[in-house]
Amino acid sequence: MAVPKKKTSKSRRDMRRSHHALTASSYAECPNCGELKRPHHVCGSCGQYDGREVVETVTA
Ligand SMILES: [Zn+2]
Repeated sequence: MAVPKKKTSKSRRDMRRSHHALTASSYAECPNCGELKRPHHVCGSCGQYDGREVVETVTA
């Protein structure tokens, strides 16, 4: 079984984990209704994508 020869130092371990931090997801304004939406996703409030309605909007 492969066993590490040396204990990983706190510095090396933390340097490795420097890439693990989560980044805040980006949002963009919907060109149709102006609501914030995720880029490359259908708008949650008006159901539009690329200038046309692709999802039925729920009207209560
Ligand atoms: Zn919208």
